[in-house]
Amino acid sequence: MQLQDLIKFIKKEDRRLREHYGNYKDEEKRILARTVKLTEELGELCDEVLSFNSMQRKDKLDNHDANNLSEEFADVIITTLLLAEVMKIDIEKALKRKIKKIDKRYIK
Ligand SMILES: [Mg+2]
Repeated sequence: MQLQDLIKFIKKEDRRLREHYGNYKDEEKRILARTVKLTEELGELCDEVLSFNSMQRKDKLDNHDANNLSEEFADVIITTLLLAEVMKIDIEKALKRKIKKIDKRYIK
């Protein structure tokens, strides 16, 4: 999958969510909702990381599905990109700039 495919999916998902939650009168509420959603997804990823390291209660570990970890990574990436979309961040540009900055800092 290319970054452009992911960005295309995010724009489609943004339109779907806007239709579904069309009751928001302003973008501030949409930004806040997506920020809260991101923290929810991050919590789910943390839960899976704890399970991965067997740092959960036995009953949780007994019911754990190993496929959940990769799904939660995907959820965090998608919700992050949906938040960036509503805040009109050019994520490709942001990533290129950040990678260049990191390379400059650590690659001599
Ligand atoms: Mg999730």
